[in-house]
Amino acid sequence: MRNLLLYIFLLLPLVGIAGSKDEGSDSKHDHKDTTKAVVLYGEQFLLSEKQHLSRASLESLRDSLKNEPGTSKEFLDQLTLFLKIPGMTRKEVAHVIDSLFENESIPYPLINQINTYVAENPPLNYIPLDTFPHPAHHIYPNWNTVVAHPYNTLNLNKTDTTHVIQLTGTQQLQEYVHPVNGPVTSSFGPRFGRQHNGIDLDLQVWDTVVSSFPGMVRIASWCGGYGRLVVVRHFNGLETYYAHLHRLKVKPGDIVNAGDPVGLGGSSGNSTGSHLHWELRFKGAPLNPETFIDFEKGKLESDTLVLKPIPTGFVAFPAGTKYHEVRRGDFLYKIAKQYGTSVAALCKLNGIQRNKPLVVGEKLRVI
Ligand SMILES: [Zn+2]
Repeated sequence: MRNLLLYIFLLLPLVGIAGSKDEGSDSKHDHKDTTKAVVLYGEQFLLSEKQHLSRASLESLRDSLKNEPGTSKEFLDQLTLFLKIPGMTRKEVAHVIDSLFENESIPYPLINQINTYVAENPPLNYIPLDTFPHPAHHIYPNWNTVVAHPYNTLNLNKTDTTHVIQLTGTQQLQEYVHPVNGPVTSSFGPRFGRQHNGIDLDLQVWDTVVSSFPGMVRIASWCGGYGRLVVVRHFNGLETYYAHLHRLKVKPGDIVNAGDPVGLGGSSGNSTGSHLHWELRFKGAPLNPETFIDFEKGKLESDTLVLKPIPTGFVAFPAGTKYHEVRRGDFLYKIAKQYGTSVAALCKLNGIQRNKPLVVGEKLRVI
């Protein structure tokens, strides 16, 4: 029972943080979700209120007491242990408290002190992010295995400049493997008055769908219109979404390599026939994969991807591409002719429609 209580207490601050970091735009939410909960065993604490000092002061208190004759060794040991708490992960703290309960005489004052510290310093649960095993933890505020879209994209890229990310060729990123070998049946972009945030690839039910890059599975469950969905977080910060699966072959936390099966294709969720709805996202913003993947060959166009922030997210293109800056009087056919390409090719490269109004100064990819 006491272990159960402990875990409830340790989890609550974490839920609070996740809630406040998830959707940064909703500041009302921040307060509501940040619930402090402290489990206390009696009223005694290791340190009196007067001694509730900064870490440096506590360290010097301990050092001075060490040389003081008559100081209780037990108190010194407990103080030393307490000073180690800020460097521990949530799991390690739970472990420490568990082991304290195993003592012949349970040090309730120390446990109270630790519990209070953890409740008052919720970032404790946040510190391990630096050492988190989750890919691209430096880019994302959380690791959510339940919600498909836990990031506030606009918040995340508010201060962003252009990102250049490596897609393959590093030790962690190895090679690219096409998720399924079917033709494109529906492209990214506006469709029936709505935004299609992925690309549809034809497949037969039971066809194997593989992860296109190495990474860690974040989601593997039924997610509304997506049906059975797998989301993989990759080391470069991309997340790939494999939707409408018939069977899931992975679970959250699984490490996958490029080419490892994540599921079997199907038509689950909001789908009218078997296909893979495949999304590539960066910081939650959907990217048009046709701007950097050749879907006929099933290959990347470049090892390096450039992500340029736009008000709604990012536009993606392979490094080493060429741009045309739109001038007054330019129109798509004129630009296409100038670079020896076609309007259709320009639209595909930039993920735009033929009737898109061009803005002076905007850059269009031409090669
Ligand atoms: Zn789709």
